[in-house]
Amino acid sequence: MAKIVITEFMDDAAVDALKQQYDVFYDQTLADRQDEIVPLVADAAALIVRNRTQVTADLLDAAPDLKCVGRLGVGLDNIDMEACRERGVTVYPATGANNLCVAEYVITNAMLLLRGAYQSTEAMLQGEWPRQALIGHELAGRVMGLVGFGGIAREVAVRASVLGMQVVAYDPYCLADDPGWQLARNVSLDGVLDYADVVSLHVPLTGDTKHMIDAEALAKMKSQAVIINTSRGGIIDEEALASALSQGKLAGAALDVFETEPLSAEAAMKFSGLKNIILTPHIAGVTQESNVRVSAMTAQTVLAHLDDAGEQAIHL
Ligand code: NAD
Repeated sequence: MAKIVITEFMDDAAVDALKQQYDVFYDQTLADRQDEIVPLVADAAALIVRNRTQVTADLLDAAPDLKCVGRLGVGLDNIDMEACRERGVTVYPATGANNLCVAEYVITNAMLLLRGAYQSTEAMLQGEWPRQALIGHELAGRVMGLVGFGGIAREVAVRASVLGMQVVAYDPYCLADDPGWQLARNVSLDGVLDYADVVSLHVPLTGDTKHMIDAEALAKMKSQAVIINTSRGGIIDEEALASALSQGKLAGAALDVFETEPLSAEAAMKFSGLKNIILTPHIAGVTQESNVRVSAMTAQTVLAHLDDAGEQAIHL
């Protein structure tokens, strides 16, 4: 029976579906011990990972029977795609399966940042009643600015519009006649930074997008604006962001992704003392519901691929 190795958490029902047809090795803590993955994949036909397992050329070389990699999510920066292509290993991201929960995360954090409500808990536990300090803003009538206008950004656009926001977006790779532009006004990056009250980032991490939001870009934003990054760490220059927040050049930020993950106490120091920042541990795309959707989609694509590969082997 062919073997499937799963190195990060996957919904139990999806693991059970795989177990019905294949020999499954599942340890959701394996990504923390990369060395232990190497012998396990020696006879594996499929590998299933989230974003912490590094699928390198060396790991692929240790897995001569590997036919596909299922990615429980969408970002592919932990997978050496070129090495996979060279070895004929197909990679299946769970495209679209967690768009909705990332979009909800963006709207939730936009509201929290504009109202500042999360700031009062500590003061209230000390017996304070900081009402004047917490007169915030509504989303309605404000501008949502999206950098990148792919699957997740469009879900954000739909929700922002329903809440009465205007939506602008920047995506040079999205054709002018794309029907998605009915959801947002097509503007330049400077247009997003100049107009938006909430800037939300939805691009992959590439050579072009690395530190795309640097000190210069942050300086173009309104001082009352907030920024939300659910895309990838490294797209915002964290030092420049911390400096802009501490100097009051920006009203707030919510970060779900970081230049190095997990964020160490040392790396988090740059944000310490800032009241206008929300930090979360890369959870925008993970809810109970999305975990079920992502896991089911990944199990289906991996099963279909292995079934096809099996049929081809028989026909050959
Ligand atoms: P997508 O591929 O659907 O959209 C990305 C868009 O970015 C594309 O339309 C592309 O044209 C555009 N783009 C690429 N380079 C650009 C550039 N230089 N300037 C402007 N636009 C550019 O991707 P998606 O599914 O919407 O995901 C967006 C990001 O969110 C990715 O980085 C993904 O890894 C990340 N993500 C994070 C979580 C999380 O839990 N935090 C969950 C899901 C996705």
